[in-house]
Amino acid sequence: TTDTTLRKPAEKLSEHPQDYRNYIDGAFVANSGEMIDVMNPANGALLGRIPETSPDTVDAAVRAARRAQGPWEKLPAIERAAYLRKISAKLREHRLELADTIIKEQGKVRSLAEVEVDFTADYIDYMAEWARRIEGEVLTSDRPKETMLLLRKPIGVVAGVLPWNFPFFLIARKLAPALVTGNTIVIKPSEETPINAYLFAELLAETDLPKGVFNLVGGRGPVAGEALISHPEVDLVTFTGSVATGSHIMQVAGKNLTRVNLELGGKAPAIVLKDADLDLAAKAIYDSRVINTGQVCNCAERVYVEREVHDEFVEKLTAHFEATRYGDPSVDDDLHMGPLVNETGLNKVTAAVELAQKQGATIVCGGKPADLGQGFHFQPTVITGATHEMDIMRRETFGPVLPVQAVENLDEAIALANDSDYGLTSSIYTQNLNAAMQASRDLKFGETYINRENFEAMQGYHAGHRKSGIGGADGKHGLYEFMVTQVVYIQG
Ligand code: NAD
Repeated sequence: TTDTTLRKPAEKLSEHPQDYRNYIDGAFVANSGEMIDVMNPANGALLGRIPETSPDTVDAAVRAARRAQGPWEKLPAIERAAYLRKISAKLREHRLELADTIIKEQGKVRSLAEVEVDFTADYIDYMAEWARRIEGEVLTSDRPKETMLLLRKPIGVVAGVLPWNFPFFLIARKLAPALVTGNTIVIKPSEETPINAYLFAELLAETDLPKGVFNLVGGRGPVAGEALISHPEVDLVTFTGSVATGSHIMQVAGKNLTRVNLELGGKAPAIVLKDADLDLAAKAIYDSRVINTGQVCNCAERVYVEREVHDEFVEKLTAHFEATRYGDPSVDDDLHMGPLVNETGLNKVTAAVELAQKQGATIVCGGKPADLGQGFHFQPTVITGATHEMDIMRRETFGPVLPVQAVENLDEAIALANDSDYGLTSSIYTQNLNAAMQASRDLKFGETYINRENFEAMQGYHAGHRKSGIGGADGKHGLYEFMVTQVVYIQG
């Protein structure tokens, strides 16, 4: 069947690891320098090698993007959108091959990897739809016989630096709004999960997208990444990743006064009130925690539950955690959870749980690395007796670990939730309208989910408060972050 044919290249990923080439100025370019191994985190298999791109090659990519930008901007937006639709059609055609690659290099389970590919194609189409809706404004002038126009224009050359947790979708979150608004782009994927980006480039190269509009350079953060973010010809760095790297990027970009858009870490609180539907709350919070093995910026990382229902809620929650099927998603299609992305991730999660125990918390289930013979697996873990002073309630854990703290009431829960360096997402479970309204007023987070799991929609606006980021993505507001304004005063 067609599906089998389309799966083949990715199945060969581990049998015949190949060297991938950067895509610059419409051509795949061989790398003369170091290559970086890409491994499957579930079993250690070598999947392929990608270039450690030198600063000179990054420079060539940025210059190609600069040359392409003028002509690209001059195309009508609707023509730019047509190119985007050709790309999304290619992704749909190869969805299983792409999903297999994400499963193998990131450790995602099949169902989520397929959702990631489909969502990516839909996202590109959604941004293409904006082509006829990019709007300026007509302003009221102070003078007689004067018209004032506010025009929106592309920024120029965009650099997109990506993390590993939604490696494929994040290409689209940067590329689609950048391209439809008339910018060109250079993408640097994470060195942990770059192969899907190389496959993206191969599919994009099969369309007639003008050369230089999209460029791909691989490599590590301090080498290729640094060369890209510090390049004086880059007009906007759009970055998704950790707070530490985001802060560094802002400092480096500051030297050239390059604009930044930063989507950083989170420590999402989930509040459960005594009137909540506890079955729904336990399931939604569980789903929000084990999705992608807990490696999602917006997913519930700490729970505040009213004391009266604490025990009942923890029991329901623990039942879900204990029923989690986890293992190697490259051999088993029917899992809730795969491995953590690498050894560093596993060590970080292990240390966070050990510290929580030392600081007095109780492990209800899990609590340790899972010995499956190979791979970076951690047991699904519920922790109770957490307090505000513990690191497990304050630092991003990024693993399948959920600490629960009992609180007296909604006011206390909101105060604890807000007292955080992070301000990305939050959630509350209640059937009381007044409580839900109070939470939406008083929670200081970019997103608040009421009685549902944390998962943003493409027409929303994904933007962290405090150290979770600067600017945002998605919807109209995210689109306009790829544009600058010009006010024109017309006398006559
Ligand atoms: P990371 O910051 O370690 O790396 C992200 C990217 O930055 C990688 O491509 C890396 O190579 C690059 N990089 C590292 N140092 C660099 C430098 N000096 N110059 C230029 N580039 C450099 O993040 P990660 O571990 O890949 O991703 C996990 C983090 O991402 C978590 O904190 C998570 O919360 C966050 N995240 C946030 C969102 C969001 O939308 N807010 C979404 C996904 C992930």
